[in-house]
Amino acid sequence: MANNDEQVCVVKGWQDAPIIDKSTLDDDLSRHFYYTLGRDKVGKSQLYLYHALALTIRDRLVARCRITKQQINQQKRRKTAYLSLEFLMGRALGNAILNLDLDKQVAQALQSYCTELEYVAQAEHDAGLGNGGLGRLAACFLDSCATLALPVIGYGIRYEYGMFNQSIDNGNQIEQPDNWLREGHPWELSAPEQAKRVKFFGHVESYTDKSGRQHRQWLDSQDVLAVPYDVPIPGYKNDIVNTLRLWKSEATDEFDLGEFNAGSYSEAVAHKNLAEQITMVLYPNDSSENGKELRLRQQYFLSSASIQDIVELWVSQHGEDFSDFADYHVFQLNDTHPSIAVAELMRILVDDYELDWDVSWQITTNTMAYTNHTLLPEALEKWSVSLFARLLPRILEVIYEINARFLAEVALVWPGDVAKQQALSLIEEGPEPQVRMAYLAIVGSYSVNGVAALHTELLKAGLFNDFYQLWPEKFNNKTNGVTPRRWLAHCNPKLSELISTKIGEQWVADFSQISQLRRYYDDVDFHQAWQAVKYTNKQRLVTLVKTRCGVEFDANMMFDVQVKRIHEYKRQLLNVLHIIHLYDRICQGDTANIVPRCVLLGGKAAPGYYMAKKIIKLINNVAEVINKDPKAMPFLRVAFLPNYNVTAMETICPATDLSEQISTAGKEASGTGNMKFMMNGALTIGTLDGANIEIRDAVGADNFFLFGARAEQVDDIKAHYNPEQLIQQTDSLHKVMQLLESGHFNLFEPGLFDDIIAAIRSPHDPWLVAHDFASFVHAQEQVEIAYQDTHHWTKMSILNTAASGLFSSDRTISQYSDDIWHLQPLIDKAVQQQQSK
Ligand SMILES: *Cc1c(COP(=O)(O)O)cnc(C)c1O
Repeated sequence: MANNDEQVCVVKGWQDAPIIDKSTLDDDLSRHFYYTLGRDKVGKSQLYLYHALALTIRDRLVARCRITKQQINQQKRRKTAYLSLEFLMGRALGNAILNLDLDKQVAQALQSYCTELEYVAQAEHDAGLGNGGLGRLAACFLDSCATLALPVIGYGIRYEYGMFNQSIDNGNQIEQPDNWLREGHPWELSAPEQAKRVKFFGHVESYTDKSGRQHRQWLDSQDVLAVPYDVPIPGYKNDIVNTLRLWKSEATDEFDLGEFNAGSYSEAVAHKNLAEQITMVLYPNDSSENGKELRLRQQYFLSSASIQDIVELWVSQHGEDFSDFADYHVFQLNDTHPSIAVAELMRILVDDYELDWDVSWQITTNTMAYTNHTLLPEALEKWSVSLFARLLPRILEVIYEINARFLAEVALVWPGDVAKQQALSLIEEGPEPQVRMAYLAIVGSYSVNGVAALHTELLKAGLFNDFYQLWPEKFNNKTNGVTPRRWLAHCNPKLSELISTKIGEQWVADFSQISQLRRYYDDVDFHQAWQAVKYTNKQRLVTLVKTRCGVEFDANMMFDVQVKRIHEYKRQLLNVLHIIHLYDRICQGDTANIVPRCVLLGGKAAPGYYMAKKIIKLINNVAEVINKDPKAMPFLRVAFLPNYNVTAMETICPATDLSEQISTAGKEASGTGNMKFMMNGALTIGTLDGANIEIRDAVGADNFFLFGARAEQVDDIKAHYNPEQLIQQTDSLHKVMQLLESGHFNLFEPGLFDDIIAAIRSPHDPWLVAHDFASFVHAQEQVEIAYQDTHHWTKMSILNTAASGLFSSDRTISQYSDDIWHLQPLIDKAVQQQQSK
């Protein structure tokens, strides 16, 4: 409907001359700086210069974005909508300049302002609309989709406040709101004329239409407006610009007319808040959900607005004929968060377009595809039936109907097996019945995928085994990846340049070519250049750690890094125990074989996660004791970097020697931090978990430091787990526990770490920290031996980068497209390769 407006009057000239020439960048920058923003001086922060440059770049994106949209929508063309409650985008400027190939022009233009891109770029706030891996994966996927010229549109929420900012006070995490939009977000374009209405509350009634058919209608709802904000997503040097559409909630204009008319003008306006609350803040829980009503509202808000958007565009182009709708659409659900989309598409088809249930179900189950991200039981979303009934009454009816028909199918496969029906029901019975969102996603989708080989196998064998037996053909694996543009070309320009001098620049667009680096793994000159780059990158991190933590790192020492969300399963605690072990060795004078190392940890704890916050405090206390002990100085330094985010990672991963990927086997679905480090030539010390397994297979067992229990051993170990005995038998662990229990790290805070100590000593410790300690220490000793042989280490480092080709999100997205989405690229592959040359 709104699309027809555009045809009313196309402004002359613009549709044919959309791509602005590189040569005018200089003029455009000053025009935006002097006229759009009305500035004449560059301030200390370079904020306005950043905005002017962002607008200059955006001009170039907008033009290409319009053409890409036309290409997608003019012909009937299959496309994917990627639905995600999180997109952890980070900064956009440097990435856009790289992908548009404007580095030289930008550097030149900035000369007039006596500055460089590196400084200007620092004025940009991270778009932190995600918690961690899941949200960052969505961001990497968008980059790869655009680079592969695939018609994919991202749908998410424009949170007013993204992931909280973390500061550290006396070793404790302090959360501060992330007001990332305060200084403006120059990349987005709003389209209020395309706003959608999303229903909440109200009730449902039956009615009979003219032809005598029965229908249900959702009445007296309190509607909220979803206003789209479009963020351009440039492909790498291919003139494709896809769209990330983020929805903001707003009050409808007719809110509370009753109150208006009663003279309560201010009260009525105040009610706007309720609508605007929906997109106010990102829930900061990674891998666990907390069942808050507002979160369910966010999920339905995103799902409903996005599906309406797609359906309305279809109807505007093809009328109300949905017979081949499923041939042209895929909805990829990033975890269960948007799984309510299954019921919403059914509601729209059945209620709004009056299609038969069976026809609608065919369409829905041929368009929905679900990605599972975790096996942790606490992350499996369930919503109480009573909440659903109140907030989304019609949606609950649809879910009941889906369930009734599904259970009839189950009864055919397992006749008379009531237990099976209960186990598979979308509704979990009990005093407070719950809707199982993962089951809704599986039943409603034609594809269910895990995110690493082990993870998918564990899904099929465990959590979703009954569904796997019903529909084995639905299940497939798509091992995660990360974009080599941001995570190598952009964040590590020195290494990129070095790589390109040897194998050309094609690897940026075709990352499988990175394997050609193998040819140089023994080349002495190449080794020297490789080491020099690492050293320079380490110096950048030294500066960051100095300014943010006040800790003096030394680029001549080994950089040992664990940055990720703080979670017991990720076992930052095991890392701390090893640090204490090294400190103990130093105190005992056992330093002959110690390789001097700087250990960096970083990550946010969910604000309500007690143990994670304790672990942060422990890391900081241990760091403080070690850093002020002159004995330790030459051998060991420890820092906790506050506010770990995408931008911090861009400095961290190029500087890392040793990447810590030490989760309890079977708990980390994939991991993607592991891949960023590998690309940048770090060696991994890790368990056989998630994508670590595939990383080790790719680089070879000799180039990976393996330790710890394997996933298939974990259950047996737990059955006889006796950490007390392990502590008694293992001298090193015994000493570490003594130091910890003596209060050495909490002299003025007695009892502070009692809960951590109890967790390690508990026979019910699900994370098996004590079990894997000795094995971890042994692997760390192998690391020391390897690091002392610089040639050997450098060779392994080069081999890691050379073997990282598999872990490009381009590979992952090609597989999604080939196996699940079946999309045609907007540009011919051969033409693409020509263009990116
Ligand atoms: C890559 C990334 C993650 C995911 O890290 P894992 O080690 O896979 O948990 C989390 N947060 C940020 C900011 C990242 O860049």
